[in-house]
Amino acid sequence: MYPRLVVDLEKISRNVRKLREILKERNIEFVGVTKLFMGDPKIAGIFRENGVEVLADSRIENFRKMMEGGFSKPFMMIRIPQISRLKEVVELTDHILVSEPEIVKMIDEIASGVVKIYYMVDVGDLREGVMYDKAVDEIKPLLNFKKAKIVGVATNVGCFGGVLPSEENLKWIVDVAKELDLDEISVGGTVYLLALEGGFMPYEITQMRIGEAALLGTDATGDRDIPYLEQETVVLEAEVIEIKEKPSVPIGKKGKDSMGRVPKFEDKGIRRRAILAIGVQDVDPKGLKPLDEGAEVVHASSDHLIVDVTDVERKIKLGDVMRFRTNYSATLRAITSPFVDKVFLG
Ligand SMILES: *Cc1c(COP(=O)(O)O)cnc(C)c1O
Repeated sequence: MYPRLVVDLEKISRNVRKLREILKERNIEFVGVTKLFMGDPKIAGIFRENGVEVLADSRIENFRKMMEGGFSKPFMMIRIPQISRLKEVVELTDHILVSEPEIVKMIDEIASGVVKIYYMVDVGDLREGVMYDKAVDEIKPLLNFKKAKIVGVATNVGCFGGVLPSEENLKWIVDVAKELDLDEISVGGTVYLLALEGGFMPYEITQMRIGEAALLGTDATGDRDIPYLEQETVVLEAEVIEIKEKPSVPIGKKGKDSMGRVPKFEDKGIRRRAILAIGVQDVDPKGLKPLDEGAEVVHASSDHLIVDVTDVERKIKLGDVMRFRTNYSATLRAITSPFVDKVFLG
C-alpha cells in the first residue's frame, strides 16, 4: 500500500551505537528521544538494545504505547507537563522536565516515590524554562522536596529560536548548576553535537537528550547531514496517479491556494508533471527530497503532491512509485498521518 514510509532499523541501530560511543567517551549519558516515531516500541527497542536506558518522549500516549510494547521506566517526560494530566505523567514516568515551581510542588504531592526533576533553564532560545539570570532565585526554594527531587537543570536550544549552542550559553547553564550545587546538567537536542565536535562542550554536562541525530542522521538546526552518521534511514514512497504535460505557470487571475498561501511559479514552459497520491495532510512537501535525480517537488495541496519529472532519466508512468528522503518535519507528519503505511526493515 502507498504511500508508505520505509524505516531502516539497521541504520538507526548503527547511528545509536555510534552516538553512544561518542557520548560514552565523554561520560555523558545518552537519553533516547522517541517522539519523532510517536513512541514506537521498535524504536524504543533499538535504543534499549544498544545501551540507551532512559527513553524520552513528549506525549503521554507514546509512553503508554511503549509500555504496551513491553518497555518500562526509566522514562523521561520532555514536554513540561500540563496540570490537567499531571497525575498520568507522574504515574508513567520517573524523570520529568519542569519549568514552573507550582508543578514541582504538585508532583511532590502526587508522587508515591521519588521522581527525578530537571528544572528547565532558558539560555536564549526562548521556548520553555526560567531565564538563566533568574534561575537560581526560582529554583533554590524548591530543592528540599522529598519526592519531587530536583537532581539537575536542563536546557535546550534550536527548538524555537533556532539558537545554536555556544561556549557562552553553555557556561550560563553550568553556572546555574554550580550555584545550586546540582550535579546533573541535561542538554538537548541533536544540535548540541556541535558543541562536542567543536570541542567546547563543558565537562560539567552529564546528559544529552537526542532524537533526530539517531533517527535521521541529520541536524535540522545546524542544517546538515551529520558526517559520522547514516542518512536515508527513512524513505517515503508514493504512487503516481496522473502524468501529464502542463504549463509551469497557472492560467488566470490568482488568489490564494487551498492552504492560504500565495504560490509563486517560475515560467519554465511546458513541463512533464506527476501527481502523487500524498499531500499536505501526510507530509511537509518542503521537507521532501526526491531520490530520482532531476525531479523537483513543485507544490502540494491536502491530497496531491505535484512533482516536475521532466528531467528525470527514467520514464515515469502512471502507477509508478517515487521515493523521497524526508527531513525532520516531513518525517514527523508522515509518521503522524494515519494514511501513510509504515514498514520497518531489519
Ligand atoms: C525534541 C526534544 C529533544 C530532542 O531533540 P532532537 O533534535 O530530536 O534530538 C530534546 N529535548 C527536548 C526538550 C525536546 O523537546
